[in-house]
Amino acid sequence: MSYLIVVDLGGTKIRAALAEAGGRITAARTLPTQAGRGAAAVLLTLKEALAALLEEARCPWSEVAGVGVCVAGFYNKEKDIMVCSPNLPGWDGLPLKAKLEESLKLPVAVENDASAAAYGEYCYGAGRGQENLLLLTLGTGIGGGLVLNGKLFGGSRGFAGEIGHIPMLSGGPLCRCGRHGCLEALASGTAIALKGRELYAAGTPTLLRQLKDEAAALRAEDVFAAASLGDGPARQIIDTASFYLGRALAVAANILNPGIILLGGGMAAQGDQFLAAIRRSFAAAVSPPIAEGLEIRLAELGNDAGIYGMLALLVESCFPGGAICL
Ligand SMILES: [Zn+2]
Repeated sequence: MSYLIVVDLGGTKIRAALAEAGGRITAARTLPTQAGRGAAAVLLTLKEALAALLEEARCPWSEVAGVGVCVAGFYNKEKDIMVCSPNLPGWDGLPLKAKLEESLKLPVAVENDASAAAYGEYCYGAGRGQENLLLLTLGTGIGGGLVLNGKLFGGSRGFAGEIGHIPMLSGGPLCRCGRHGCLEALASGTAIALKGRELYAAGTPTLLRQLKDEAAALRAEDVFAAASLGDGPARQIIDTASFYLGRALAVAANILNPGIILLGGGMAAQGDQFLAAIRRSFAAAVSPPIAEGLEIRLAELGNDAGIYGMLALLVESCFPGGAICL
């Protein structure tokens, strides 16, 4: 048995890869999740996709030593149950590991996607050489992952690193988790798009009106685009989001004293101005001794971070002592 399968199971896309024991990816494919079909249908599609992947690589199932899956949402590592995932509606309570093991007849490991991404950046990306790192993933939601003392840190049940749900504003907007004023409800792509739509609908003079024909079509990237063109109201939305992101990172840094903070996800790449504003807010809030030498940098592995993190974890568990090289 000398192959491994890694899967990034997201709300929109499923990415799957086949790798050799040493960690080299030999075949990969991406398919739509179509999460609305329900868990059973999605897991069947996944099994079919994996079968096609193995056939393409001329690798029999018997040659696969294990499967690693990273998934969005609160995944209980103690019971191996999906507690809740806004991206995978109807999956609450699903014993994902057991379902996959029953279907694939292989040992399966499951991790939260941001945790896997943090480990990927630690092993192969912008976190190499840092034994203590914090990764924030900025997209439609806000995820977080932690590597502490060179090990992935999940806390008592795997929920550690949920920076997106740090309460930042009393009585703030409703979050997908059911609480009000979480970082995610104030600074995610979804929150920024919503603020842009509110501006538009309120009739505020803004460039956003020239970018889209109707408020409902506005996305976070439109707000970033308007801000970069000097639009004041759009700039205010981005500045507010940056302010909360910097402060939440300061809270996390004061607790964890990381060696580096990485920003990943689609929104992290929205330009130097955004990154600079997060750094300013962070610097104004974090304890000075903790700030010393602590950099906030962009992650490097993009959408592949979770896949690489799962792969590294799987190599370590299936082939202890085995060297990883990509
Ligand atoms: Zn929340």
